[in-house]
Amino acid sequence: MTADQANHLAIGVDVGGTTIRAALVDTSGELHGSFHQPSPRSAAALRDFVHLVLESAKVPVHGIGIGCKGIIDAATTRVKSLPGDLHFLEGQLLRDVVGAGGLTVCAENDARAALVAEALWGAARGRRNVVMLTLGTGVGGAALVDGRILCGASGAAGHFGHVTVDPRGGLCICGNYGCIETQFSSRAIESDYWAHLHRAAPAKLSLDGAGRPPDTAAIFRAAIEGDACARHVLDGALEYLAGAIVGFLHTFDPEVFILGGNIAAAGPQIFDPIRSKIAQRTRILLGREVPIVFQKVVGFGGVAGAAGLVFLHEGLLQIC
Ligand SMILES: [Zn+2]
Repeated sequence: MTADQANHLAIGVDVGGTTIRAALVDTSGELHGSFHQPSPRSAAALRDFVHLVLESAKVPVHGIGIGCKGIIDAATTRVKSLPGDLHFLEGQLLRDVVGAGGLTVCAENDARAALVAEALWGAARGRRNVVMLTLGTGVGGAALVDGRILCGASGAAGHFGHVTVDPRGGLCICGNYGCIETQFSSRAIESDYWAHLHRAAPAKLSLDGAGRPPDTAAIFRAAIEGDACARHVLDGALEYLAGAIVGFLHTFDPEVFILGGNIAAAGPQIFDPIRSKIAQRTRILLGREVPIVFQKVVGFGGVAGAAGLVFLHEGLLQIC
């Protein structure tokens, strides 16, 4: 690393449901040493992990940025809502949890941190209006509106996975029915395939020895290989995704729409079937085709974005 970059390092931490990742990140988004381990199951374990990373820094860092699932109050770093395995963090101030003395600690929802990474170094660079959807086990999202990350009155804005796309659809983890997450997420795709197997529909994949359905990546591969069941499941899921994206384009009028998350790795298999539909359905109101692109800062994108929170806070970088 150059001397200048060494002067501008921050620690980025991405607290996920199964894995916690961290790295020293410079202002160009480069990672200098990365760390990961199974997600902590106590505040003390989170603190120990962050201090391990902090001790690895050979030069002073500008601060610690934390991207975390749930609803995070960025002004105070308080975790307002975090159901599931990381529930022990709910109500806590992350800056107190990591206990980093006088160091700046910034915190934000993980999907927003991923969008910050895209805005600083990736597909949203130079843009002021961007919508991002993260497609994985669940569906998350974040929006940049007129140059600012959309937060909402209580900090919960951007839960795009819980926009209704089918009022008669299944009951969602959030209590709503027919959310994007119930129609286009790993769990939705896998459970739909499982339902087909359960009905003995002709399918090329089968349950594994433990009775689990094939995973989403296998279902995408099977669709390419001519499995009619996989094709049908994905066609149905993609209809919902296309409809949802049209809604977001009409709502936010973004310069670019970013697809991220594990499922987005399927790339053209997601994009090719829906691109022309979306363009056609948004032509009248928007008068142009909004580019739909894939996340560029992948792998440790949440980590880089979390460090980006510190750079933004310290005025070292800015979203145009
Ligand atoms: Zn929901």
